[in-house]
Amino acid sequence: MINFYKSLSSKIERLFIYIIKFVKFFVLSIFSLIYKENCIICGCALQNNGFSAQNNTCSKNVNLLCKTCAKTVEFLSGFPQGVYDGVEIYSATIYKTTMRQLIHKLKFNHKKDVCHVLAYFLFEYYKKIEAYKKECGKFLPSLENLVIVPVPTNKNNIKQRGYNNVFEIAKEFSNLLRAPFSKNLLLKIKDTKPQYKLGPKERVKNVSGCFNINLKEVEKFKGKTVLIIDDIYTTGATINEIIKVLKKNNIENIFCITLSKVV
Ligand SMILES: [Zn+2]
Repeated sequence: MINFYKSLSSKIERLFIYIIKFVKFFVLSIFSLIYKENCIICGCALQNNGFSAQNNTCSKNVNLLCKTCAKTVEFLSGFPQGVYDGVEIYSATIYKTTMRQLIHKLKFNHKKDVCHVLAYFLFEYYKKIEAYKKECGKFLPSLENLVIVPVPTNKNNIKQRGYNNVFEIAKEFSNLLRAPFSKNLLLKIKDTKPQYKLGPKERVKNVSGCFNINLKEVEKFKGKTVLIIDDIYTTGATINEIIKVLKKNNIENIFCITLSKVV
């Protein structure tokens, strides 16, 4: 009799597990039918074709881009694309096709989640710099000695978008890299015109004197290497102006990475 009850209870248990599994499968199927994910660039369904910006360290699971579109992103090599006053300036990718569209989606189309994909590209590129440095017998600063700083933008742009696009990329990048982040080390003290509307000389004039640093944050990150993050590198006017301001305030250990470069 006891054996009969034991066997019955194990059968009920198994049946219960099957029911749970079925309900879970059913709910997930309905959910994926309603909220079908598509590639943000070409519109194809992402079911088995998604480029996953997810890895063990990623703070958020995002799947916005298909593998085909992801492959069109052209990475640059891990050596500096430019040097200004001894500061190395790296650019991760070429500003064209998919990369240009992704940056525009984040900047102008309120697609805030795109920052996760862009930060992931930046993270992948960081490994390339590490490999390049290693080849030269050099090293990047250890992560605890680093502080990631985004290029600030006009207050009006933040108001319109609801966020600072470069801040969002840099923040997510710092999560992936597990390195400290400071959104307030650099301050924008003067509104500027959009750089893309100006010629090389006007760009320099436009950004001249528009940045300052926050002395309280400098104290907090004293002795650290500042890693400046920006989205697009064209003539370098913005990055150069930032380097000038940092050096003027005795911050000497600096390097910069822009997500893309206009070539
Ligand atoms: Zn696609």
